[in-house]
Amino acid sequence: AASSVEQDVVIIGGGPGGYVAAIKAAQLGLKTTCIEGRGALGGTCLNVGCIPSKALLNSSHMFYEAKNNFAHHGVIIENPKVDWTAMQKQKDTAVSGLTKGIEGLFKKNKVEYVKGWGKIVGPNKVEVALSDGGSKIIDTKNIIIATGSEVTPLPGVPIDEKKIVSSTGALVLKEVPKTMVVIGAGYIGLEMGSVYSRLGSKVTVVEFLDHIVPTMDSEVRRTFMRTLEKQGLSFKMSTKVSKGEVVGEKVHLIVEPSKGGPSDKIEADAVLVSIGRRPLLKGLGLDEVGVKMDNRGRVAIDDHFRTNIPSIYAIGDVVQGPMLAHKAEEDGVAAVEIIAGKAGHVNYNTVPSICYTHPEVATVGITEDEAKAKGLAVKTGKFSFMANSRARAVEDADGLVKMIADAKTDKLLGVHIMSANAGELIHECCVAMEYGACSEDLARTCHGHPTLSEAVKEAAIATAFGKPIHM
Ligand code: FAD
Ligand code: NAD
Repeated sequence: AASSVEQDVVIIGGGPGGYVAAIKAAQLGLKTTCIEGRGALGGTCLNVGCIPSKALLNSSHMFYEAKNNFAHHGVIIENPKVDWTAMQKQKDTAVSGLTKGIEGLFKKNKVEYVKGWGKIVGPNKVEVALSDGGSKIIDTKNIIIATGSEVTPLPGVPIDEKKIVSSTGALVLKEVPKTMVVIGAGYIGLEMGSVYSRLGSKVTVVEFLDHIVPTMDSEVRRTFMRTLEKQGLSFKMSTKVSKGEVVGEKVHLIVEPSKGGPSDKIEADAVLVSIGRRPLLKGLGLDEVGVKMDNRGRVAIDDHFRTNIPSIYAIGDVVQGPMLAHKAEEDGVAAVEIIAGKAGHVNYNTVPSICYTHPEVATVGITEDEAKAKGLAVKTGKFSFMANSRARAVEDADGLVKMIADAKTDKLLGVHIMSANAGELIHECCVAMEYGACSEDLARTCHGHPTLSEAVKEAAIATAFGKPIHM
């Protein structure tokens, strides 16, 4: 049946892009509907991404510390053990609490939540296959596509989500595997690889390129890789997996050098395929309505999130830019501001990326390599956490801050931090860059003592004046 009231905006997808857009749209006074088919709000991020992975990263870190580092601090626990069921339960409770919280926010802000799978059937019409059965047509002035992404499959290595898993299966393995192969040394591979390595799996990461996380500063990622190796992860670089099959309780993999050459066999109890994600647009009706794609299979948009059809917008993982929850949220807010006639805008130069391993690696702005490739004249400043008093006091001093500024104007162009809590430390740099600050501005800002943040100040001093104080 047709819905009686025409909506100002219908958002398809209830992930960080879609649900944040919906709340903001309602706050701006727009009649707003959000359609979500998975039965819970929060999208990939809350249900099978950011949140459950961070829960397991935290729990596994506590176990690793208890086993390897507590005694040194005078805390004696005989033979700490993992209760995998309890660890899973803690994660699930965190997830369900948060997804229900969003339903509460929808009610509070008067967003209509329609449970089902949406399909665009015209520039101003969305049909929903309702989760409770039947279907419904919603008329609307504007549509926002926020359907997110799915795992990129690897030909020859079929995912069964039991032995050969994507990140989704990796969050719910029945037991901690004795051996695990991770294909792809990106964010998912290193985070989930760290989880299982800390819990006792022998983890081997197979990476196609000769370096891990391609988007990181090369100096930082070299230090990062050495640290992960010290923690027990092993890496097979410049290697590709050409075939994988489940044989009994094991997975047999055939690997070969990326550039070709003799192949080799490896065996593991579990294999994680984490070679990237791709936009999820199946069954959305985009072809029929005539929405254009870009050359990488994403929805093509202009600077205002508008597709080639003026009433249809797209945000988050389905469009260009980093596939990150906070980026999707910024897209969502800006898109509905534009729909409401305001000046929505996202500054992608100040969107941070954070890898939540231990130590964490956080990045904002350009890397030194990118500066070189663009022919920019830059200066850099560095500071090691080995010289930071707080990091030394708590004996968690692996890492560094590296800052990149314009050689002439001193304007901050990029900051790269590897340390405990780097994901929190990076934000003063994001704010500084948003305000167009120089490294000298950070260098002259008083930072509390003793804090890890003082390493950011010291790196800024090194960038602005050539030498830090404490190193
Ligand atoms: P999604 O979150 O994918 O949401 C899209 C929603 O749309 C889904 O719920 C889907 O069910 C729904 N949908 C799809 N089609 C339809 C339809 N036709 N009708 C109705 N509903 C539909 N990012 C970070 O920033 N930090 C992290 O720590 C982080 N960790 C991650 C860990 C893992 C294991 C994974 C897989 C991803 C992680 N990400 C992280 C990435 C992050 O999850 C995504 O960038 C983010 O969720 C994208 O938001 P989105 O709203 O665009 O899409
Ligand atoms: P990724 O793009 O981060 O890393 C994929 C890695 O796999 C790269 O190093 C790539 O070189 C390698 N690779 C590609 N093809 C390969 C092949 N055939 N064999 C071996 N290696 C191969 O992708 P991901 O780790 O799958 O994560 C997907 C997305 O989710 C990312 O875009 C990321 O932004 C997001 N994510 C973010 C976080 C976070 O912010 N902490 C955490 C998890 C996921």
